[in-house]
Formats: sequence, C-alpha cells, structure tokens
Amino acid sequence: MSPRDQYDLTNPVTQYDRVEPPLQHQPEPGVQARMTPVPDLGEASYRGSGRLTGRKALITGGDSGIGAATAIAFAREGADVVIAHLPGEEEDAEHVLSLIADAGRRGKAIVADISHADQCRRLVAEAADFLGGLDVLVNNAGKQIAVDRVEDLSDEQFEETFRTNVFANFWITKAALEHLGEGASIVNTASLEAYKPSPDRLDYAATKAAINNLSKGLALQLASRGIRVNVVAPGPVWTALQVSDGVSDEQMEHFDDENTYQRAGQPAELAPAYVYLASAESGYVSGAALNVNGGMVTP
Ligand code: NAD
Ligand code: MG
Repeated sequence: MSPRDQYDLTNPVTQYDRVEPPLQHQPEPGVQARMTPVPDLGEASYRGSGRLTGRKALITGGDSGIGAATAIAFAREGADVVIAHLPGEEEDAEHVLSLIADAGRRGKAIVADISHADQCRRLVAEAADFLGGLDVLVNNAGKQIAVDRVEDLSDEQFEETFRTNVFANFWITKAALEHLGEGASIVNTASLEAYKPSPDRLDYAATKAAINNLSKGLALQLASRGIRVNVVAPGPVWTALQVSDGVSDEQMEHFDDENTYQRAGQPAELAPAYVYLASAESGYVSGAALNVNGGMVTP
C-alpha cells in the first residue's frame, strides 16, 4: 500500500507496507528498476504546489532512490532539474527524466564519476550551462559497502568512500558557488549512521558524520552571502544502495526491523524534506539537520 496523495491523513507507521525484501544482489551501482520490490519514488503520490517555481537544481545520484524521488518532487514544484549518475544507470535516469518532462519542466542527465575532482567540475559547468544558472544544489550521491571486520576493509575502499561521499561534496560545492547567488540553497545528505554507526559501515558512517560537520561550518561561512546549507539525515530507506552490498544478507532480510516504525522508508518519504530545505519557506533554517528516519531519536 502507498498513499494516493502526499497530503492524505494516514497513520505514518502503516502508511507504507513493510518491504520484506527477498535476498538480492547487484553489482555497484545497483539499478533500481531491477529491484524487488521497486522502490516508491512518489510517482503516484507527490503533488506539487509551486514551491520551487523557476528554480534551477542539480541533484547528484538523481537517477534512483532518494535523489530520484527528490528530482521528481522538485519538477512537480516547478523546478528545472539536472540529475547526475554513473555509467550503467541510464535506465533509471530515463524514468526520472520522463517524469520531469511530464511535469512540464526541463530535465537532463549527466554521467560523471564524482570521485574525481575534474568530473565534479565538468558536471557543475554542464549543469549550470543547461539550466542557465544554479539555485539549488543537492549533494546526494553516495557509496556504501558493508564490511564486517576492519582488517578486511581495504585502503582502497576507505579512500573511495571518502572521495565519493565527502571529497565530491567539497569539489561540487566549490564549483557550484561560482553560480549560486542570494537565496540559493545547498542540501547535503547525511544519515542516521552519522550518529549511530553500524559496526560494519566504519568508512561510510564516518563520511556521514563528516558531511554533517562540513555542512554546519559551511552554513556559518555562507550565511553572509545569503546562501543556506542544510542536511537531510535519512534512516533505513529501501534503495539500490542496499542491494549492491550496502548491507549484509542478514540485514537485508531484517531491513524493516531497524527503526521505531518497524518498516523501512521509501524514497518518496524523503523528497518533501529536500523540497522544504530547498525552498524559500525554510529561509530562517541554515546549518540544520532534518532527520527522516522512521521515528528514531538522534542526539
Ligand atoms: P541509490 O543507490 O539509489 O543512490 C545513490 C546514487 O549515488 C546512485 O544512483 C549513483 O548514481 C550515485 N553514485 C554513487 N557513487 C557515485 C560516483 N562515484 N559518481 C557519481 N555518482 C555516484 O541509493 P540512495 O539510498 O537513494 O542514496 C542516496 C543518498 O542517501 C546517499 O548519500 C546515501 O548515503 C544516503 N542514505 C541512504 C540511506 C538508505 O537507507 N537508503 C540511509 C541514509 C542515507
Ligand atoms: Mg542509481
């Protein structure tokens, strides 16, 4: 079951079914269209109301999961949207682009491996060129590979996770600032892991704590320029990240049991947080983290 409309009055605990995923594996990056069940991006439920009219937005990892739900919501709120993704994710990107077009907005997908600084700079330049500027940057792409023992966590993986989750955030933000003016909004994606690290996600959880800290410092630095920086910190959400070694088999089988609601979240449930932080209605909010995690309490 999923809601017919995002504004329906429902019990949030039972608003979406438990996912109860069958065990499944894909190589990284996972393709959402091949998941069972396919995550809910709010295709049938998200109704816009003009909150981002005329905005120009870049969303990394906008092909699938949380970034894709956000891209669809942004378009339905009136924004033109560039989504960035890795090679091999074209099928998911096409789905999102078709929904952006259905919303009557302009959309484009750019392939870039953001673990390289030069590709981050190219991505931002191409996005700003297509959009005719940039008002909203959503740093959402992320890498998560579960490894049980620190001895088995390779130096290469540790570095790659930091390059993708933290360094890229820095490179893309720095390049985007050439285009972001007063009223612009940067929304970064942390995680419940930033506060409650899972023992088999040392590298990943540390990057998420770093994103929280980086975002707060940057919010202070950019306030005088009229640019806001905030964070969305999701809890367990059913996305392609999980099926491409993001969690162990055992955790996948119990994916619904990790939070207070006793059900995993759907990407559709995250998008409104990004809309709020991107839009002018959160003008007095900067340096904040919005936790969207099925009722988990964070410090
Ligand atoms: P997802 O797999 O659907 O999206 C992640 C995207 O990151 C991919 O689509 C891919 O395009 C992009 N990506 C990864 N490495 C990249 C690289 N080197 N270059 C360019 N793009 C790259 O999964 P998702 O869960 O929607 O993830 C979105 C964000 O949400 C991530 O930052 C993730 O850490 C965060 N998050 C997810 C959960 C969850 O339970 N799903 C919980 C907390 C935080
Ligand atoms: Mg993807």
